[in-house]
Amino acid sequence: MGHVVVIGAGQAAASLVARLRGKGFEGEITVIGAEAEPPYQRPPLSKAYLLGEMEKDRLYLRPRTYYDEQNITLMLGEPAVSVDTEAQHVIAGGARDRL
Ligand SMILES: Cc1cc2nc3c(=O)[nH]c(=O)nc-3n(C[C@H](O)[C@H](O)[C@H](O)COP(=O)(O)OP(=O)(O)OC[C@H]3O[C@@H](n4cnc5c(N)ncnc54)[C@H](O)[C@@H]3O)c2cc1C
Repeated sequence: MGHVVVIGAGQAAASLVARLRGKGFEGEITVIGAEAEPPYQRPPLSKAYLLGEMEKDRLYLRPRTYYDEQNITLMLGEPAVSVDTEAQHVIAGGARDRL
């Protein structure tokens, strides 16, 4: 089935992994994010959230449970530092993940 490793846990990553599962991809999915937070919306940061009109939890694109339910591994808080497409691995947080 293969293993999809997404580098960067932003809005694009959240859409991609949801689409993969939605289209029936059953292989392993890992999302590597430099930030400690799961994918969240950025536009409200300079608008509703900044004005105190939005709770932090509403910034998240999906609840944390979604990723568990969909068997999507989030590796957060460490950037990917190396990608070797030939050897098919990516290194983040001292761990090596096969692509
Ligand atoms: C305050 C603010 C307000 C905005 N308002 C609007 C708006 O009103 N309308 C609009 O259209 N757009 C707005 N934008 C822009 C919009 O949010 C971006 O276009 C959108 O977030 C892009 O999503 P992305 O997933 O492509 O990239 P990003 O959101 O940039 O996500 C990329 C992620 O990858 C991570 N990353 C990078 N390198 C690595 C690495 N080596 N390893 C692991 N992780 C890595 C980064 O930490 C980041 O979390 C706003 C942005 C900000 C910051």
